[in-house]
Amino acid sequence: MNSPHSFLLRVAIPCPLRSSFDYWAPVDATPESCQPGVRVRVPFGRREMIGICLELPKSSNYDATKIKAAIAVLDDQPVLSQTMLDLLIWTSQYYVHPIGETIAEAMPTLLRQGRDSDALVQTHIDITDAGKNALQSGAIKRAKRQEEALNWLVEQGGSSTPSSLAAAGISATVRHTLNDKQYVSTREEKTDAWTYTPSEPGHTLNDEQQHAVDSICKSSGFHTFLCAGITGSGKTEVYYQAMEPVLARGQSVLLLVPEIALTPQTLSRLEARFHVPVVATHSGLTTRDRYHAWLRSFHDQAAIVVGTRSAVFMPCPRLGLIVVDESHDNAFKQASSLRYHARDIAIKRAHGLKIPIVLGTATPSLESLYNVERGLYQLLTLSKRAGKAKPPAIRCIEQNKVGLNPDVIKAIEECLENKQQALLFLNRRGYAPLFLCHHCGSVCHCDRCDVAMTYHREKQRLVCHHCDRKQAPPKQCPECQQANHIPYGLGTEQLEETCRELFPSASLCRIDRDTTRNRDELKTQLERIHTQDANILIGTQMLAKGHHFPALSLVVIVNADQGFFCSDFRAIERTGQLIMQVSGRCGRDNLPGTVLIQTALPDFPPLQQLIQEGYLPFAKQLLKEREEAHLPPSYAFVLIGAQAKSAQEAERGLHQLRDALRQDKGLSLSALGPMPAAHQKINDVHRFQLGLLTQSKSMRAHVLNRVCHLISQQNNQRVRYFLDVDAQALL
Ligand code: ADP
Ligand code: ZN
Repeated sequence: MNSPHSFLLRVAIPCPLRSSFDYWAPVDATPESCQPGVRVRVPFGRREMIGICLELPKSSNYDATKIKAAIAVLDDQPVLSQTMLDLLIWTSQYYVHPIGETIAEAMPTLLRQGRDSDALVQTHIDITDAGKNALQSGAIKRAKRQEEALNWLVEQGGSSTPSSLAAAGISATVRHTLNDKQYVSTREEKTDAWTYTPSEPGHTLNDEQQHAVDSICKSSGFHTFLCAGITGSGKTEVYYQAMEPVLARGQSVLLLVPEIALTPQTLSRLEARFHVPVVATHSGLTTRDRYHAWLRSFHDQAAIVVGTRSAVFMPCPRLGLIVVDESHDNAFKQASSLRYHARDIAIKRAHGLKIPIVLGTATPSLESLYNVERGLYQLLTLSKRAGKAKPPAIRCIEQNKVGLNPDVIKAIEECLENKQQALLFLNRRGYAPLFLCHHCGSVCHCDRCDVAMTYHREKQRLVCHHCDRKQAPPKQCPECQQANHIPYGLGTEQLEETCRELFPSASLCRIDRDTTRNRDELKTQLERIHTQDANILIGTQMLAKGHHFPALSLVVIVNADQGFFCSDFRAIERTGQLIMQVSGRCGRDNLPGTVLIQTALPDFPPLQQLIQEGYLPFAKQLLKEREEAHLPPSYAFVLIGAQAKSAQEAERGLHQLRDALRQDKGLSLSALGPMPAAHQKINDVHRFQLGLLTQSKSMRAHVLNRVCHLISQQNNQRVRYFLDVDAQALL
């Protein structure tokens, strides 16, 4: 069946179908020019699409006469290496996600759209003779900005790059004007692969840090380390000293971090320490910048790649070490489309490359601790704070009404008198989570979601935090027609107001999604904290993680109960992690730190254990309980979500699935639900869920196979299903 003139390509195309597609190679192509991993443009339906060549199969299951020819091969060199392709094929199977869409997740948008893959050049801006003359003759004296820019270029030896110009405050407009006037010229040059230069010396390590670094550096081949170090124990120093010999060998390092907000800080620390090229990538960048970051990594110009979740798919040639910082963080799990966990993919990637991987955190996930118990990961503990800092003293304070307890108020006053900073943590933005009729007690709900609307006082709006619907507060109650509404419960906006009254001389800084709409606002606010322009910090979990504020000596967790009591079996683990992370923000330098936890249930046993014994014993106890209850991580878990306009239809679909699975004698599983999502209706769509637990991942794979089959048999367009393998939260 093989045409003598051509050969076949198996292509993954970004579309919801699970299969790949066969094409004849373009007429002028040779098998050498069509290696797996190159992009190919192909006809698809009535359109053209760009896919990735997976292999060159000898034969096809399709009718040879119906196979179409590919239009063009776009790359000389594969944009995805064979190891990356293998990783993506595994990812697609593990998460039961179409191969074409899985591969699409791993590539920057512009590359997917066909942009050049060997376009990597460094742009240089050089001052021209005309530019020098203009400076000397004073011809551009009146164009101050342009003159400054030219002078700056002269100081740099006459040449610089667009990003350095931007960093020096010279705008792109000025640069373009100078270019138009031919005062500068633009030159593009292919840059070489990075080379090693030794880094700045670091701290002298303490014994625990030294042991951790030695263990990582001495390991050979694939090895997973769980670096469990309390907050402020100097995990970063451990990563850096473990990275140094890897770079010295000429291998690159991939560093994954959970948050964009933390990336600038991470980046400046890396750049101050290492004298090798560092490339950052995260969703806060423009598509152009992300493409550029990818190109630099692909062309071996990044010794260190640092980024959020999707950076796990960066090319990183010569990769020698992966570090996942704050590895317990849920931000590593993607919550839609391909629901992958970047930590787990990173481990799989390290396995394929036979290199070590370090998972660092103060609050390891139960998954990671379970793998330590099973001997799969090596535990490295850092139990002391680095340098002279001591862990904070943590105390529970009984909370009997909304707001701040008198003891807490006193503690804040003392803190202010000592010219130190206090952080009030409250994971609820807005003024009040409920807007309530004082007469009949009914609460304002979102029309589209079964969610109470949050009252925002500054904007005088009720806002649904799920679908972002906004409306004016009602003049009278829709239920009883009385005009007597009151805000109920405490949000950050109200807490700020309370603090303004209680501590009139204090300077406040509130950080939540409402006060930091863009990255510049967040930067300004963080700046104010670092310069101690602000002394009371009020914030949601945006402030909880990673930050290092030396003058912060008091942390108040305003409402600890909010997280503990929720139906998700992970609620206690998550809340414990959050409490420890927030607590870790204080007492990081010379000042001793204090943490006050406001709770209605100060004797709640997990909370007591967390405070008295620390995170690891707390987590080990939870792990034991999970094992006894046959819940993850000892049991493999998958969550099946069903969404439909009609609640009955979504629920019925899941019931049918569960019953069919139970009847299958070859399968062994237990089910949670079907049950409605915590907020059943969001945006007028009803959501139900069914959790499935199996003793092994291989049994789960059988179950998932069957689930896919059953869903296609149901063939009900009105219900949309999704699978969340290793789901980290219930709906
Ligand atoms: P973590 O990431 O574990 O919370 P960091 O890496 O941010 O902690 O370290 C906390 C502080 O301790 C930093 O200011 C760091 O420079 C400092 N530090 C780290 N290791 C040492 C050491 N061995 N000696 C003195 N200071 C150290
Ligand atoms: Zn809504």
